[in-house]
Amino acid sequence: MSAALHAGRSAPWRALADELARWREGGRVAEFWWRDDDAARPDPALKRLLALAQGTGTPLALAVVPMQAEEEAFEGIGPGVSIIQHGIDHGNRAGAGEKKTEFPAGESPRAAAARLTAGRERLAAWAQDRFVPVLAPPWNRLPEAFIPQLAPAGFRGLSRFGVRAAAQPAPGIRQVNTHVDLVAWHAGRGFVGEDAALAAAVGHLAAKREGRADAGEPTGWLSHHAVHEEAAWTFLERLFETLRAEPGLRWMGVRELFHSQ
Ligand SMILES: [Zn+2]
Repeated sequence: MSAALHAGRSAPWRALADELARWREGGRVAEFWWRDDDAARPDPALKRLLALAQGTGTPLALAVVPMQAEEEAFEGIGPGVSIIQHGIDHGNRAGAGEKKTEFPAGESPRAAAARLTAGRERLAAWAQDRFVPVLAPPWNRLPEAFIPQLAPAGFRGLSRFGVRAAAQPAPGIRQVNTHVDLVAWHAGRGFVGEDAALAAAVGHLAAKREGRADAGEPTGWLSHHAVHEEAAWTFLERLFETLRAEPGLRWMGVRELFHSQ
């Protein structure tokens, strides 16, 4: 049991410490990763995000919207930050009866692939070797029929939300999802709160440990810097600081997560 996580901590933090202790007792390493969505402009929130990643030494997958992005947003990005692609223009193209999506089921996969390629080329030109061709679709939605089009369009990874159904959903595509959303989208878009965030992480770790979820999928934390209130920033700072003191876990970077197959 870790003194660092237990000292003066509330029940949700203790639950995380206890779960991590179970991983250690089983001789296993708990793996985490961090994705942040909707980057486009070099505004104060993005600067704060990048400073947090750099200051805590936490690898960050920064999901950038290609057609909204400004070149200045890529300046001063630290070595631990990788750029991935967040859709193309983040426009909602949902058809009747569909939830918000940039990729409606009615669009032909080839047309979507052409749009994706244009976005990928724009990002790659600016981000250069920081860019890793992974698609994080807006609203975490992409029709299954589109996935086989990703590798021919130059992608090697896909990241959505929730326990993945497959590590390789199509030839040449590795899928690593996020599992802990820090924003309460349907309740005012504020911070979900420490209890909910930590419970989601503990729930995913326990599911993996007990064989109810793909044990090879690192637990992904999903943030949205543009809408973070102070409580969300404070939580992330505390999370990184607390976990840094924990043995037997590690944060994974994008290149390792989405290694070529
Ligand atoms: Zn988004």
